Amino acid sequence: MSLLRVRNWLDPVLRKKGERIENIDENLVRLVSDMYETMLEAKGAGLAANQIGEAKSLFVVDIGIETGERNLVTVINPVITAMEDEEIAEEGCLSIPEVFAEVKRARHVELKGVDLKGNEVRYEAEGFLARAFQHEMEHLSGTLFWDNLSSVKRNILKRKFKKLRKEADA
Ligand SMILES: [Zn+2]
Repeated sequence: MSLLRVRNWLDPVLRKKGERIENIDENLVRLVSDMYETMLEAKGAGLAANQIGEAKSLFVVDIGIETGERNLVTVINPVITAMEDEEIAEEGCLSIPEVFAEVKRARHVELKGVDLKGNEVRYEAEGFLARAFQHEMEHLSGTLFWDNLSSVKRNILKRKFKKLRKEADA
């Protein structure tokens, strides 16, 4: 296993749509295991493939994050099948480190996809986990969480990101 470099929002790969995965092969299994390791190291709740430079329709999420019992799952070619109610809560992204904002999301989602064995999987989630699923789904369509905000708010966050980065480089 090896750690992958998490791309930040300045990398154009984050604007790419995740391509549908037709074959689950050894390389994909290895990629997912590296994504798990990278996500845990970064203390993230989820990671989409384009965040590590692969524009593929796949994300990983720790569905146990709220209970503290790690439960890492892979969803290949995910599709949201239901969204209900709304909720506003703070959100961040490993590709926009240290920048957080309140985003309106569905409070309840259902999604389906395929796991690494090629079996269909379905998840129902509420609250934080529902938010994580929606956040990762957006990555796969080339969207970042701050695209849900007004351009004024987004520009404030972009300036904050750049300032933090400058401080980190100094
Ligand atoms: Zn993200």
